[in-house]
Amino acid sequence: MNIKDTLRSAWLGGVTAPILLVIIQFLSRELHLARFGLIITLYKEAPLSVSRVVQWLLISDPEAASGVNLLAVIIAWAITWAIVADWVKRIDDIVLGMILNYVIYVLYLSWYRHIPVKLYFPESFYPIPISLLAAGLVILNYKRKAKITFFDKLEKVGIMIPEKFRIDLSIPLSCPSCGATLYSNSQYCWRCGADLESILYEKMAGEKK
Ligand SMILES: [Zn+2]
Repeated sequence: MNIKDTLRSAWLGGVTAPILLVIIQFLSRELHLARFGLIITLYKEAPLSVSRVVQWLLISDPEAASGVNLLAVIIAWAITWAIVADWVKRIDDIVLGMILNYVIYVLYLSWYRHIPVKLYFPESFYPIPISLLAAGLVILNYKRKAKITFFDKLEKVGIMIPEKFRIDLSIPLSCPSCGATLYSNSQYCWRCGADLESILYEKMAGEKK
Protein backbone atom coordinates (compact mmCIF):
# COMPACT_ATOMS: atom_id res chain seq x y z
CA MET A 1 0.00 0.00 0.00
CA ASN A 2 1.13 3.46 -0.85
CA ILE A 3 -0.63 6.31 0.96
CA LYS A 4 0.17 8.76 -1.83
CA ASP A 5 -1.38 6.50 -4.48
CA THR A 6 -4.40 5.87 -2.25
CA LEU A 7 -4.98 9.62 -1.93
CA ARG A 8 -4.33 10.10 -5.63
CA SER A 9 -6.89 7.48 -6.59
CA ALA A 10 -9.46 8.91 -4.14
CA TRP A 11 -8.91 12.38 -5.55
CA LEU A 12 -8.95 11.33 -9.20
CA GLY A 13 -12.00 9.11 -8.66
CA GLY A 14 -13.87 11.75 -6.68
CA VAL A 15 -13.37 14.38 -9.35
CA THR A 16 -13.81 12.21 -12.44
CA ALA A 17 -17.10 10.48 -11.56
CA PRO A 18 -19.21 13.68 -11.30
CA ILE A 19 -17.73 15.03 -14.54
CA LEU A 20 -18.43 11.74 -16.32
CA LEU A 21 -21.98 11.56 -15.03
CA VAL A 22 -22.66 15.07 -16.34
CA ILE A 23 -21.03 14.16 -19.67
CA ILE A 24 -23.21 11.03 -19.93
CA GLN A 25 -26.29 13.18 -19.23
CA PHE A 26 -25.15 15.71 -21.84
CA LEU A 27 -24.44 13.03 -24.47
CA SER A 28 -27.79 11.34 -23.91
CA ARG A 29 -29.50 14.63 -24.69
CA GLU A 30 -27.25 15.59 -27.59
CA LEU A 31 -27.55 12.16 -29.20
CA HIS A 32 -31.32 12.17 -28.58
CA LEU A 33 -31.14 8.83 -26.82
CA ALA A 34 -34.69 9.49 -25.61
CA ARG A 35 -35.75 8.10 -29.00
CA PHE A 36 -34.59 4.72 -27.74
CA GLY A 37 -36.24 5.16 -24.37
CA LEU A 38 -32.93 6.10 -22.73
CA ILE A 39 -33.93 9.08 -20.67
CA ILE A 40 -31.63 10.32 -17.94
CA THR A 41 -33.32 12.77 -15.61
CA LEU A 42 -30.32 14.23 -13.79
CA TYR A 43 -30.61 17.56 -15.56
CA LYS A 44 -33.96 19.31 -15.36
CA GLU A 45 -33.59 22.71 -17.01
CA ALA A 46 -32.30 24.10 -13.73
CA PRO A 47 -28.69 24.74 -12.76
CA LEU A 48 -27.15 21.43 -11.83
CA SER A 49 -25.65 21.48 -8.34
CA VAL A 50 -22.64 19.47 -7.20
CA SER A 51 -24.67 18.07 -4.32
CA ARG A 52 -27.30 16.71 -6.73
CA VAL A 53 -24.61 14.99 -8.79
CA VAL A 54 -23.01 13.55 -5.66
CA GLN A 55 -26.41 12.38 -4.39
CA TRP A 56 -26.84 10.58 -7.68
CA LEU A 57 -23.39 9.04 -7.53
CA LEU A 58 -24.19 7.64 -4.08
CA ILE A 59 -27.63 6.63 -5.37
CA SER A 60 -28.98 8.47 -2.38
CA ASP A 61 -31.70 10.00 -4.52
CA PRO A 62 -34.60 7.58 -5.25
CA GLU A 63 -34.72 8.97 -8.78
CA ALA A 64 -31.20 7.66 -9.43
CA ALA A 65 -32.04 4.20 -8.13
CA SER A 66 -33.85 2.85 -11.15
CA GLY A 67 -33.71 2.22 -14.87
CA VAL A 68 -31.54 4.28 -17.17
CA ASN A 69 -30.57 6.68 -14.37
CA LEU A 70 -29.09 3.83 -12.35
CA LEU A 71 -27.33 2.52 -15.45
CA ALA A 72 -25.82 5.96 -16.14
CA VAL A 73 -24.49 6.20 -12.58
CA ILE A 74 -22.98 2.70 -12.74
CA ILE A 75 -21.32 3.49 -16.10
CA ALA A 76 -19.89 6.74 -14.67
CA TRP A 77 -18.42 4.84 -11.71
CA ALA A 78 -17.04 2.01 -13.83
CA ILE A 79 -15.33 4.29 -16.37
CA THR A 80 -13.98 6.45 -13.56
CA TRP A 81 -12.30 3.54 -11.80
CA ALA A 82 -11.01 2.10 -15.06
CA ILE A 83 -9.29 5.46 -15.58
CA VAL A 84 -7.97 5.48 -12.00
CA ALA A 85 -6.68 1.91 -12.40
CA ASP A 86 -4.87 2.86 -15.57
CA TRP A 87 -3.08 5.53 -13.59
CA VAL A 88 -2.49 3.93 -10.19
CA LYS A 89 -2.20 0.25 -11.25
CA ARG A 90 -2.30 -1.25 -7.74
CA ILE A 91 -5.51 -2.85 -6.59
CA ASP A 92 -5.02 -2.20 -2.84
CA ASP A 93 -4.53 1.54 -3.40
CA ILE A 94 -7.56 1.54 -5.68
CA VAL A 95 -9.80 -0.25 -3.16
CA LEU A 96 -8.75 2.12 -0.37
CA GLY A 97 -9.07 5.10 -2.69
CA MET A 98 -12.59 4.03 -3.59
CA ILE A 99 -13.60 3.65 0.07
CA LEU A 100 -12.08 7.04 0.85
CA ASN A 101 -13.86 8.57 -2.15
CA TYR A 102 -17.16 7.12 -0.92
CA VAL A 103 -16.63 8.45 2.61
CA ILE A 104 -15.76 11.90 1.26
CA TYR A 105 -18.97 11.98 -0.81
CA VAL A 106 -21.03 10.98 2.25
CA LEU A 107 -19.30 13.61 4.41
CA TYR A 108 -19.68 16.25 1.71
CA LEU A 109 -23.43 15.73 1.62
CA SER A 110 -24.16 15.13 5.30
CA TRP A 111 -21.60 17.25 7.09
CA TYR A 112 -20.88 20.03 4.62
CA ARG A 113 -24.20 20.42 2.79
CA HIS A 114 -26.45 19.08 5.57
CA ILE A 115 -28.26 16.78 3.17
CA PRO A 116 -29.29 13.46 4.72
CA VAL A 117 -27.71 10.50 2.96
CA LYS A 118 -30.20 7.72 2.34
CA LEU A 119 -29.01 4.50 0.82
CA TYR A 120 -31.15 2.02 -1.04
CA PHE A 121 -30.50 -1.68 -0.91
CA PRO A 122 -29.19 -3.12 -3.11
CA GLU A 123 -29.18 -0.33 -5.72
CA SER A 124 -26.88 2.02 -3.80
CA PHE A 125 -24.24 -0.68 -3.57
CA TYR A 126 -24.11 -1.73 -7.23
CA PRO A 127 -21.42 0.77 -8.28
CA ILE A 128 -18.77 -0.57 -5.88
CA PRO A 129 -18.34 -4.17 -7.14
CA ILE A 130 -18.78 -3.04 -10.73
CA SER A 131 -16.11 -0.33 -10.33
CA LEU A 132 -13.78 -2.84 -8.70
CA LEU A 133 -14.35 -5.22 -11.58
CA ALA A 134 -13.58 -2.46 -14.11
CA ALA A 135 -10.41 -1.51 -12.24
CA GLY A 136 -9.38 -5.16 -11.91
CA LEU A 137 -9.79 -5.78 -15.65
CA VAL A 138 -7.64 -2.76 -16.50
CA ILE A 139 -4.88 -3.97 -14.15
CA LEU A 140 -5.03 -7.55 -15.47
CA ASN A 141 -4.77 -6.26 -19.02
CA TYR A 142 -1.81 -4.10 -18.03
CA LYS A 143 -0.03 -7.02 -16.38
CA ARG A 144 -0.65 -9.26 -19.39
CA LYS A 145 0.81 -6.63 -21.70
CA ALA A 146 3.82 -6.03 -19.46
CA LYS A 147 4.83 -9.69 -19.79
CA ILE A 148 5.34 -9.35 -23.55
CA THR A 149 8.97 -8.38 -24.11
CA PHE A 150 10.64 -6.73 -27.05
CA PHE A 151 12.04 -10.13 -28.04
CA ASP A 152 8.51 -11.59 -28.12
CA LYS A 153 7.50 -8.85 -30.51
CA LEU A 154 10.48 -9.58 -32.77
CA GLU A 155 9.60 -13.26 -32.71
CA LYS A 156 6.08 -12.43 -33.83
CA VAL A 157 7.44 -10.85 -37.01
CA GLY A 158 9.76 -13.80 -37.58
CA ILE A 159 13.02 -12.50 -36.15
CA MET A 160 14.40 -15.12 -33.80
CA ILE A 161 17.01 -14.04 -31.30
CA PRO A 162 18.96 -16.93 -29.73
CA GLU A 163 18.32 -17.47 -26.04
CA LYS A 164 21.97 -16.70 -25.16
CA PHE A 165 21.40 -13.10 -26.26
CA ARG A 166 18.22 -12.76 -24.26
CA ILE A 167 19.54 -13.41 -20.77
CA ASP A 168 19.70 -10.71 -18.13
CA LEU A 169 23.32 -10.12 -17.25
CA SER A 170 24.44 -8.12 -14.29
CA ILE A 171 27.99 -6.96 -14.68
CA PRO A 172 30.65 -7.35 -13.53
CA LEU A 173 30.77 -11.03 -14.40
CA SER A 174 33.73 -13.29 -13.85
CA CYS A 175 35.31 -15.52 -16.41
CA PRO A 176 34.53 -19.19 -15.63
CA SER A 177 37.89 -20.15 -17.08
CA CYS A 178 40.39 -17.80 -15.45
CA GLY A 179 38.28 -15.82 -12.97
CA ALA A 180 39.02 -12.42 -14.51
CA THR A 181 36.47 -9.70 -13.80
CA LEU A 182 34.47 -8.85 -16.90
CA TYR A 183 32.92 -5.41 -17.18
CA SER A 184 30.96 -6.09 -20.33
CA ASN A 185 29.25 -8.98 -22.06
CA SER A 186 32.09 -9.40 -24.53
CA GLN A 187 32.38 -12.50 -26.64
CA TYR A 188 35.86 -13.44 -25.43
CA CYS A 189 37.55 -13.04 -22.08
CA TRP A 190 40.00 -10.15 -22.20
CA ARG A 191 42.60 -12.11 -20.22
CA CYS A 192 42.50 -15.73 -21.25
CA GLY A 193 40.57 -15.42 -24.49
CA ALA A 194 37.97 -18.03 -23.49
CA ASP A 195 34.87 -18.09 -25.69
CA LEU A 196 32.39 -16.63 -23.20
CA GLU A 197 29.47 -17.14 -25.52
CA SER A 198 29.72 -20.89 -25.34
CA ILE A 199 31.06 -21.33 -21.80
CA LEU A 200 29.05 -18.63 -20.04
CA TYR A 201 26.06 -17.08 -21.84
CA GLU A 202 24.74 -20.31 -23.31
CA LYS A 203 25.00 -21.99 -19.94
CA MET A 204 23.08 -19.13 -18.32
CA ALA A 205 20.44 -19.31 -21.04
CA GLY A 206 20.14 -23.04 -20.37
CA GLU A 207 19.66 -22.41 -16.64
CA LYS A 208 16.96 -19.84 -17.38
CA LYS A 209 14.89 -22.53 -19.14
ZN1 LIG B 1 39.25 -15.67 -18.73
